[in-house]
Amino acid sequence: MNYTVKQIAEITNAQVIGDKDLWIRNIAFDSRIIYSTKNTAFIAINTHKNSGEKFIESAIDRGIVVIISEHQYPQFENVTWIIVENSVEFLQKLAKYHFENSHLKSIGITGSNGKTILKEWLYQCLWSEFPTIKSPKSFNSQIGLPLSLLQINTSYELGIFEVGISKPNEMEKLENIFHPRIGLLTHIGTAHAANFESEEELIDEKILLFKHSEVIIYNGDNVLVDNKIKEIYSGKKLISYGIKNNNQVCIKEGVSKDENITVIYFEEEISFPVHQRDEATLTNALALITVLKELNIDNQKIVEKINSLKAVEMRLESIEGIKNNIVINDSFNLDLDSLKTALQFLNEYKKSKKSLVLTDIVGVNSNSEELYEEVSELVNDQNFDSVFLIGDEISNFSDLFKSKTSTFVNTQELIESKHLTEIENQIILLKGARKFEIEKLKDILELRKHDTVLEINLNAILHNINYHKSLLKPGTKMMAMVKANAYGLGSYEISEFLQHHHIDYLGVAYADEGIELRKKGITTPIVVMNPEQHSYEAIIEYNLEPEIYSFRVLDLFYEAVQKSGYDKKYPIHIKIETGMHRLGFKDFELDELSEALNHKNVKVQSLFSHLSSSDMPEEREFTFRQLEVFEKNSNYLIEKLGYTPIRHVLNSSGITSYTEHQYDMVRIGIGMIGESPCSEIQKQLQSVVSFKTVISQISTVDTGESVGYSRKYKPDHAARIATIPVGYADGIPRLIGNQVGNVGVNKILAPIVGNICMDMMMINVDQIPYVKEGDTVTVFNAKPSLKEFAGYCKTITYEVLTSISPRVKRIYIKD
Ligand SMILES: *Cc1c(COP(=O)(O)O)cnc(C)c1O
Repeated sequence: MNYTVKQIAEITNAQVIGDKDLWIRNIAFDSRIIYSTKNTAFIAINTHKNSGEKFIESAIDRGIVVIISEHQYPQFENVTWIIVENSVEFLQKLAKYHFENSHLKSIGITGSNGKTILKEWLYQCLWSEFPTIKSPKSFNSQIGLPLSLLQINTSYELGIFEVGISKPNEMEKLENIFHPRIGLLTHIGTAHAANFESEEELIDEKILLFKHSEVIIYNGDNVLVDNKIKEIYSGKKLISYGIKNNNQVCIKEGVSKDENITVIYFEEEISFPVHQRDEATLTNALALITVLKELNIDNQKIVEKINSLKAVEMRLESIEGIKNNIVINDSFNLDLDSLKTALQFLNEYKKSKKSLVLTDIVGVNSNSEELYEEVSELVNDQNFDSVFLIGDEISNFSDLFKSKTSTFVNTQELIESKHLTEIENQIILLKGARKFEIEKLKDILELRKHDTVLEINLNAILHNINYHKSLLKPGTKMMAMVKANAYGLGSYEISEFLQHHHIDYLGVAYADEGIELRKKGITTPIVVMNPEQHSYEAIIEYNLEPEIYSFRVLDLFYEAVQKSGYDKKYPIHIKIETGMHRLGFKDFELDELSEALNHKNVKVQSLFSHLSSSDMPEEREFTFRQLEVFEKNSNYLIEKLGYTPIRHVLNSSGITSYTEHQYDMVRIGIGMIGESPCSEIQKQLQSVVSFKTVISQISTVDTGESVGYSRKYKPDHAARIATIPVGYADGIPRLIGNQVGNVGVNKILAPIVGNICMDMMMINVDQIPYVKEGDTVTVFNAKPSLKEFAGYCKTITYEVLTSISPRVKRIYIKD
């Protein structure tokens, strides 16, 4: 987009205070990810859950001078305000106008599953044919879609946008903004169906997107969909695709065992190789072919394009590197969008120095001078310490880069230069087009080569936090418990991520854990649940907030405060005993406590207690009694103190089972890792942790022979036995050997046989077809799940997670 403030105000009926002649090319909605402030306006989006207005200040701090908001804040000077009645409707109005005046050829994708994959595939196939824009990530909602549409500019010919709805009546609004020329309906499944009366209602709603489409391409495997579309849109060009042979585009039956699959497209047949033959992949491939044909791409090209299609993996890997570096590996693909995403990812780390490895951008149709100018602008904004450019093309433009820049013909040359292995204590981003094979750099930069990893999905943590938040009132604060190395997942990495997402408090067990976080740059308030006597000085020095659970702790801690010369009221958290009988002040101590607190120069930041059995439905009565005691005793203290501290009592299962007792804050732990004792809730959560390794060796063990120490396993027929490099020193309890526990190989459970060794164990892979050395083995998640694995170990998920040895490499995954 490119409008003046005045034009924007006219299009949307908004009011301007300030300079009407400024040009706006971008609208930023998240103050943390503003790449460039030039010609950028910040919009404070208000939803029923959240108000973006609290981030206006940080946007202005970053240099934004135009703010779109429902309210003006006169304390900020030299800012131009676009005052709107409703921030979401403003975006929609502007996006509608912008889209309708863009004359873009457009594809709109809706459906329950496969939208994002198809969008990415289409983009990969089409960007070299037409200048193409697509919606970023899964920006498909009432806010995401307008923001995507606003990124259209005159250089694009084709736009691919995802449209998602979750409730009735949403599609009409979206169709009013965006009416795609080609409508694509993917599989309709049960996802989101919760808010709809019936499947029929869901279908009716989704297909509203096609009201003004010229062509509708749809998955005709669902009879209801097929009938509906034919009935409602009989006047339009309709093409159905799917596995069933009643579709116009389908798969020819009786395919041979070789690599190829034959697709019937009306009367034609097209053959192409596929590696994955699951139904979802095949259906998506059919949709892709149909759209490509509709855009007049010839068969040979289609086959070529499908051949080079990568599975859509938009994941960025962050790895612990040698010499205290963090390596972010994104050697998968390279275009401007993915470069932006990667740079944004980088910003979430607080390392002060960073370096970049960047290759030629391959396969783009645009003018290379413009392209690299834009690339260099994005890169220059980041203040890299060093930039390493690989490839002839980008090397020609090395003058555009402001950092210390060196150029290389290919990846090998960079490796041989040894520049990379000299870097210390930095964050290194590897970003390259596939053909440069810069993943080789990852191999030399990575610390500890180990096939066994604990993979932690940060997006899933965010999803789980948001799910729990959705149960709470908008104002309720949240403390994330990151004690015990964040339940074994890595306390700094998790805390950094949570801080970035504005968590209100962090909770640790011991002062040392809090100090480590502070030293690494975590500034969020941290509560220390079990402040040990020797650590009081450090607690004060590092600005940590202790839990005070007895007079002994109160007196000694206060002594330390006075000694330290701290002259303000020190924030402390009072633990009230309500039935757990672990730590806390009891009923009869409250009078003395309130007196002591009133006499000391401290501020009771919060009053709290802990539920012993919130995960046990059979203990509801007891839990209610705990809650009652808390209500009574906390009220009593508030009255005596004369001010009202924050109150909190719920842990994760408390949040889901005793929501009405949320008070002012809740404390989430296992719930953010995606575990719930309640199966209904479990379905809503995403799994965060996956413990994986690979098969080192496979042997055939004959009858009469034995496996492992003490000859504990003697197969009764020749068995195929795989050795995997994890053992009890990695945190696998020895007691799950000898066929007590299983691990997953190719999604099938394989029993652990024989005794578990210190660093290895053996599994029986007889039941697993096509298994080979080097294949991935899942210790948990998915199959078996973390819960099932804990079951083998006869313990709870908490203990499994915190027992995984520090030598197992933690890898953090993020979109
Ligand atoms: C660990 C802990 C929590 C979190 O418990 P989950 O069951 O993991 O949600 C909450 N409060 C306190 C005091 C804790 O020690």
